[in-house]
Formats: sequence, structure tokens, C-alpha cells
Amino acid sequence: LVLPLSSVFHAVGLVQRGMGAHRRVEQVMRLPVEHTGPAATPVRPAARPRPGTERDGERPALALDDVHFGYEPHRPVLRGVSFAVPPRRQVALVGPSGAGKSTVFALVAGFYEPDSGAVLFDGLPAAELGRDACRRRIAVVDQNTHVVHGTLRENIAYAVPDAPEAELRRVVGLARLEEVVDRLPGGLDAVVGERGSTLSGGERQRVALARALLARPSLLLLDEPTSHLDAINEAALTTVMKDVARECALLVVAHRLSTVRHADHIVVLHRGRTAGQGRHEELLAASPLYRELAASQMLRPGGDRAARRTPSSR
Ligand code: ATP
Repeated sequence: LVLPLSSVFHAVGLVQRGMGAHRRVEQVMRLPVEHTGPAATPVRPAARPRPGTERDGERPALALDDVHFGYEPHRPVLRGVSFAVPPRRQVALVGPSGAGKSTVFALVAGFYEPDSGAVLFDGLPAAELGRDACRRRIAVVDQNTHVVHGTLRENIAYAVPDAPEAELRRVVGLARLEEVVDRLPGGLDAVVGERGSTLSGGERQRVALARALLARPSLLLLDEPTSHLDAINEAALTTVMKDVARECALLVVAHRLSTVRHADHIVVLHRGRTAGQGRHEELLAASPLYRELAASQMLRPGGDRAARRTPSSR
């Protein structure tokens, strides 16, 4: 009896999993089709960089020019946001919860269009470039890393399946995954398990980063890349981000200032406005809001996280 019964339980489990998967597929199928309107038109040959968007002869990979936006009428979320991300530079977007950081990302990724002002890629307005051309320039890594059952190679080369071996090795090196490749039996061809269960959170994050880099984006968007990581993995990813910024422009949203304190430029958002811009030390001196954010996270000028003073450490 035991064997047939266990087969029946196994079959019931499979059917239940199948039904769950079917429900999820149905949810996706029911999603509304993206509006492609005029923004999806091909690049117009007449498209020219907007005057004033070039700095030192180089056009910024991304610029927001006085962007206003609200999800609903009469409820503005972004109220005149302007900043630029030059090529091969790391720019960080910080600010309190609800300041509008994710909304900026959503506009850059083309999920919404500004009510006024412009998003520009390489000095060209996104509205003229078209959504597809804009998205070809960017890659996004968010806090929910998507590693699926399959080999490390398949997970990294997901978007560029015919990528040459040398390219794969390049992004593995950039994302500092060599140690993982050496550790796993089979290296790049090792199976990483359901949702990357054989990898740590930090390693999964770096696999997602390698995948994004393989597409050679001119702009990489990182959304809260270290929010689920411990201090060691955060430090590893911060080092990787520095290397990545030598390859392409990097825009990082982060709650933890320790992740972005070494960024080339930091933009402070507050209630949908740009409340300050500059390097970490400059903002500590000039921006009360940034000082407050840093103080709440115990970051002091010139040092790392200040030691937490506990009664026993006094
Ligand atoms: P957090 O750090 O908490 O993620 P944030 O700085 O990324 O916050 P956003 O998520 O951009 O802030 O939200 C800015 C404002 O826009 C908030 O008031 C939020 O409630 C509102 N908002 C965000 N997404 C939507 C949406 N899809 N529809 C309506 N309002 C939204």
C-alpha cells in the first residue's frame, strides 16, 4: 500500500503546483497591454541633443530636465526634478520614504511619461527616441533578483543566449563571480537550483548584475541593490558598483547611504523636489536633510558607520 499511496500523494502535489503555476500565468495574461502611443515611434532622424545637456563635450547618458509628474491629476509626485548621469559615472538617488525615487526609476524605464519636462538619453528626448530605443540603452537590477532553476550560464546569458564565452567571462569578472564559478562543481554549467537556492543573496544579486551587464547597457539602474544584504555582501557589491561605473553610467536608488557614499554624485530627493546635489562630504556640509539621513544611519564625515554606542561600550 505504501508505494501506491506515496505515488498518489506525489501526483496530488504535482497537480496543486500545476494549478498554482496556471493561476500565476493567468494573472500575467490578464495584465493590460502597454500603451505604445507616439513614444513607441522609431527614432526621428532629426533628433538632436537638447542644447545645454552636454557637459565637457560629453552628453549625459541620462538627464532629467525639470520633470513634473503625478500618478493622479492634482496630486503631484515629482515637482521639477533635474539631474544628469554622465557616462561612466555613478549617481545615487537618496531621500526619505515617499520622496519619489522609485517614481523617477519608473519614468526612466518608460513605464510612465512626465506631465512636463523631459527625460533625455544621450541628450535626446525619450519622447523622440521612442520607448524601444530608450529601453535598449538601459538595464535594470532591482532588489528582487530573479535567478531561476538552470545553470549559472543560462541565468547570466538569459537575455543574450548567443553571447561569446569571452563576454560571459568579462561579466563574471566584473560582477566578481569567479569565486562562485570556481566553487560550484561544473563551474558556469553548474545548476543553481530553484530560485538560485545554492547561491547566497549577495551572489544572486551579482548574477543579476552580470546578466544586466552582458547586454552592454549605456545606463544601468540599480534599485535598492543592497536592501537585503548583510554588511559583508553590501561591501562586496559596493566595490562591484565602482568597477561597473567604469563601463557604463550607473543610477542607484538606495536607502542605505553606506551603499552610495562613494558615488560620484548624489541627488537628494524630498517631497518630489531635488533638495540637494553633490558628493557625500559636500552634502553633509550643505544639506540639512542629508545630514539628518546620515545621522539616522550613523554615518559621519570621513569615516564609515560610527560605532554604535551601547552602555557597555561607554
Ligand atoms: P520608498 O523609499 O518608500 O520606496 P520612494 O522615494 O521610492 O519611496 P515612490 O515610491 O516614488 O517614493 O512614491 C512617491 C509617492 O508616489 C508616494 O506618495 C506614493 O504613495 C505615490 N505612488 C507611488 N506609486 C504609485 C502608484 N502606482 N499610484 C499612485 N501613487 C503612487
